[in-house]
Amino acid sequence: PPLPAARVRSAFVEFFRDKHGHLPVPSSPVRPRGDPSLLFVNAGMNQFKPIFLGTADPRSEMASYRRVVNSQKCVRAGGKHNDLDDVGRDGYHHTFFEMLGNWSFGDYFKEEACRMAWSLLTEHYGIPADRLYVSYFGGDAAAGLPADEDTRNIWLEIGVPTHRLLPFGLKDNFWEMGDTGPCGPCTEIHYDHVGGREVAALVNADSPEVVEIWNLVFMQYNRELDHSLRLLPQVSVDTGMGLERLVSVLQGKTSNYDTDLFTPLLHAIHQRSGVEPYRGRMGAVDVGQVDLAYRVVADHIRTLSVCIADGVCPGMSGAELVLRRILRRAVRFCVEVLRAPQGTLASLVPTVADLLGNIYPELHQETDRIVDIINENEAHFLSSLRQGSRLIERTLSRKDYKRGVFPASVAWSLHRDLGFPLDLVDLILEERGVRVDRQELDRLIAENQKVALELQAGDRAQVTLDVLSLTALQRLGVPHTDDSLKYDYHLA
Ligand code: ATP
Ligand code: MG
Ligand code: MG
Ligand code: MG
Repeated sequence: PPLPAARVRSAFVEFFRDKHGHLPVPSSPVRPRGDPSLLFVNAGMNQFKPIFLGTADPRSEMASYRRVVNSQKCVRAGGKHNDLDDVGRDGYHHTFFEMLGNWSFGDYFKEEACRMAWSLLTEHYGIPADRLYVSYFGGDAAAGLPADEDTRNIWLEIGVPTHRLLPFGLKDNFWEMGDTGPCGPCTEIHYDHVGGREVAALVNADSPEVVEIWNLVFMQYNRELDHSLRLLPQVSVDTGMGLERLVSVLQGKTSNYDTDLFTPLLHAIHQRSGVEPYRGRMGAVDVGQVDLAYRVVADHIRTLSVCIADGVCPGMSGAELVLRRILRRAVRFCVEVLRAPQGTLASLVPTVADLLGNIYPELHQETDRIVDIINENEAHFLSSLRQGSRLIERTLSRKDYKRGVFPASVAWSLHRDLGFPLDLVDLILEERGVRVDRQELDRLIAENQKVALELQAGDRAQVTLDVLSLTALQRLGVPHTDDSLKYDYHLA
């Protein structure tokens, strides 16, 4: 019988603890502690950033770490690592996931890291070597970074055949924590879910058949504010493997949603819904809309539960704004696609706690608070939705609006006064065969953005940028980075 997820997780920690002398350490909360460069903890290494940089307080416990292992709660829904738009559309990108990792801080380096990883996967977990592909950093002339031939040779010695050993550039094989922070070349292990063939071309090609499972980063640099690379005081190893992806491999499933980390949740959603059970269909929205909704809701309720337990609540700026968007998206899928009653989302929290509470006990401790916060936010959103829908209907029934073009001032007021994300306005109008007066709406956005920036410069208000306006800002050529989540054209 396949290993349950809980055993997959503990076997990882035990392997590094018992066979290779690593110290198990707890996951940090998903709210970053004292690191304004991050919205959420996006990788296992975040909490160790001071060790990489050589700035850890010498009296702290951390300063003595040489080899550690853990399973870290990660959220990738904003900043440099943002997978929000993939969620539900594929079976292997989540907004919340668990990252299994082992670290060497100035201890072992490339050779031991590769050997340990290979032995764990092929001997311990028993994954057939002929299902695995390995990628390494192929260098980047413009950045003055050489190809990582050392790593290539190590893999050849381990026995990976040349045609399964593939060089990639900065995008795939040079890992960076954010716009600034520790970084370095990496080598990654990918799994072919089909097998019995050679499919090197599917590696790093967004194919659901060949999926990246483990990243081994050789930390050597820090990305500075001016974008230059500074050598770190010592070299380190930082690895990260997605637990959900590993479990899907070991349970013989092509989608993470078909593993025991998700099936109880999908089942609980079905019991409250007014639709057929989850059937796992992927692809076109019209065929798989219901299944897509199941996946989005299952993903989002995990993220909401973990974030709220760690003190990030739905709100109006930064990470909290992202969480608000996640909550609203989940509510809409529950109500409109799954035909589930109000209260459904919060009713799933105990299932999340059952699934993850043993390893992250705060989910048990905080269950009631999480339920209350989700219910409150849902009620508020549903009431705005009802008001907004009435406003849209009234506007559409007016004779004086140009046929097919929705007035920008009404769209803007839906956004500003009722808190509708602008892409939700677009979506609702699209469903009605209407589009908004884009030019005029962009003008309103730009006008507001200017006001907001002036206000901020004058320090008179805390202003936040609605993530959903990013495309609008791009169209207008207003400078921003993804992290400009901090500035808003929209004053709450
Ligand atoms: P991908 O290319 O699939 O988006 P990545 O290269 O962005 O993954 P890394 O930053 O290298 O991912 O993170 C290390 C590991 O964490 C990955 O190899 C993968 O197993 C897992 N992982 C990354 N992003 C996600 C996600 N959104 N959901 C689930 N697992 C993830
Ligand atoms: Mg990614
Ligand atoms: Mg990748
Ligand atoms: Mg990667």
